[in-house]
Formats: sequence, structure tokens, C-alpha cells
Amino acid sequence: MTKTAFKAESKRLLEMMINSIYTQREIFLRELISNASDAIDKIYYKALTDDSLVFNKDNYFIKITADKASRTLTIADTGIGMTQEDLENNLGVIAKSGSLAFKQENEAKEGHNIIGQFGVGFYSAFMVADKVTVTSRALGSDEAYQWESEGAEGYTIVPASKETIGTEIVMTIKPNTEDDQYDEFLEPYRLKAIVKKYSDFIRYPIKMDFESQ
Ligand code: ADP
Ligand code: MG
Repeated sequence: MTKTAFKAESKRLLEMMINSIYTQREIFLRELISNASDAIDKIYYKALTDDSLVFNKDNYFIKITADKASRTLTIADTGIGMTQEDLENNLGVIAKSGSLAFKQENEAKEGHNIIGQFGVGFYSAFMVADKVTVTSRALGSDEAYQWESEGAEGYTIVPASKETIGTEIVMTIKPNTEDDQYDEFLEPYRLKAIVKKYSDFIRYPIKMDFESQ
């Protein structure tokens, strides 16, 4: 399968994320939860003006699951989802063009600290994962698509199947090395603590189902 190369700016940001320093890595979860919450917000706001759409609060949530055996951490949401085109446009390039310049400017002044301080977005998943697989089905669509990337090399998008509207992001967590520990991102107590620290204010339920472990 041919890979699509990331745009130059995206590639630079990705490389920055991949090489980020230890203390900032945990914020990837804040970023993915915030995207999931934004995606549910989009359905919520659409329902306000679209009579055919009823927003029943019970149906909207974010779910985090971890599986140590396969080293996967999954963030699923019942939000608005992404079409094939959305996956291409939103995950293939940097959404906010100004943010990279801002980051580079400030990083020069304050070291790498800036990464943890503001929204760095989807690519922060690559701080802890060596493969990210996004399966999504957009509101109003019968089709689902899967975006997958192993980092700066590029990404692929293929048709997929998904029963429900929304997005599922599966991260294959990096193996531990002598210098870097990643196992913590598969540990329920650690994941719960990160969610509490950064995502306590999220308006939708964040379900954490670790019972099978
Ligand atoms: P930002 O959230 O600041 O726009 P991100 O890099 O976090 O930047 O995300 C880029 C875009 O990808 C989002 O604006 C959104 O359009 C899309 N996106 C990311 N995650 C999701 C998701 N879970 N559901 C729907 N769309 C998403
Ligand atoms: Mg975001």
C-alpha cells in the first residue's frame, strides 16, 4: 500500500512529538480526550438546530481501554466522526497553521517546556505510541475509514467497518527502553490519574473499563 507523505510542517511537528522529553508525554491523553469531547460537542450543537437529530445525553461518552497483552491503548468516542476527506484534511496536515511557528519561537526561549502548556493536538499521540490507528464513521454516513501511521514516514487511509458513529483511536504503546518507560500508559491507576489531572472538567462521561485486566 502506498503511504501518503505528511506535509513538511506536519512532519516537523511529528518529529518534535516523537522526541519529546519524558515529563510531557502524559499530556497526549488530554489532547485525545479534548478532541473526543469537541467531536461530541459538534453533535450537540448540530442537534440544537437540526430537528431530525436528538441529543440524548446517555448516548454520548468517551471510553478508554487498555490491553497490556497487545500493548494497545484505545480512546473511543461517540462524536461526529470523520469522513475519508476529514481524515485526510484533519490528520494529514496541521490544523492550525500558526501554532508551529508559535511553538518554535517559544521553545527557543523557554526550552521544551512549552509543549505541556497548550494544545498540541492529535500528533501528541506519537509521544507514546509507535503506531496510531484511527477508525471513524461520520454522522450521516454508512461508510467507515481507517487512517494509520507509524510516525513521520506518512499515513494510509483504507475503507473499514464500524457499527456506530464516532471515532476510535488505537495507540500501540512504545516498548520500554533502558532510558524510557512507556508501560505506565497501559496501567489503569496511572491512566485514571492522568485523566483526573487534565480532563476533570470534560462535560461528557469518561468511561474507563479495565475490568478484564
Ligand atoms: P485541534 O483540536 O486544535 O483542531 P488536533 O490536532 O487536536 O487540533 O485535531 C485536528 C482535527 O482532527 C480536529 O480539529 C478535528 O477536526 C479532527 N479530529 C481529531 N480527533 C477527532 C475525533 N476524535 N473526532 C472527530 N474529529 C477529530
Ligand atoms: Mg485538539
